[in-house]
Amino acid sequence: MHCPFCGEDDTKVIDSRLVAEGNQVRRRRECFSCRERFTTFETAELVMPRVVKQDGTRQPFDEEKLRSGLMKALEKRPVSIEQIDTALSHIKAQLRATGEREVKSMRLGEEVMTELRQLDKVAYVRFASVYRSFQDVNEFKEEIERLTAGNGDSVADVAKALADSGAEKKS
Ligand SMILES: [Zn+2]
Repeated sequence: MHCPFCGEDDTKVIDSRLVAEGNQVRRRRECFSCRERFTTFETAELVMPRVVKQDGTRQPFDEEKLRSGLMKALEKRPVSIEQIDTALSHIKAQLRATGEREVKSMRLGEEVMTELRQLDKVAYVRFASVYRSFQDVNEFKEEIERLTAGNGDSVADVAKALADSGAEKKS
């Protein structure tokens, strides 16, 4: 692979490891000529189903759009880039596992919520409040109560974290 700094034809791999649960290889490379180091990520290119929106239009699966959606929901939350990459791999694997050539955007949204629910409750509620557009405050409150049931966090904690992060609550 060419060096992105000086254009030298050849670079050597100095470190290689699996990331995103083995779905990605991260390599550190060093240029023979200028000695600059850089990182490459290698992933298998697999065909993703197309996404059917509610109005019936079809769109190619857009990983970058999905990533930025996740990042937005996880803004200022204690979740690493590697965890986000892992969530992305899970979502893609779930969609491919349908074996369909097209999936409904709603299905994609459900997969995103499943991942976010495990990663970070605040991010989940942020995403769900926009995505599901809860009909009323009670529905929203019930969802938070379901999330916090039985695991230490109180409804107030999640609500406070949401307020601190500046998320808008729908009413
Ligand atoms: Zn170089």
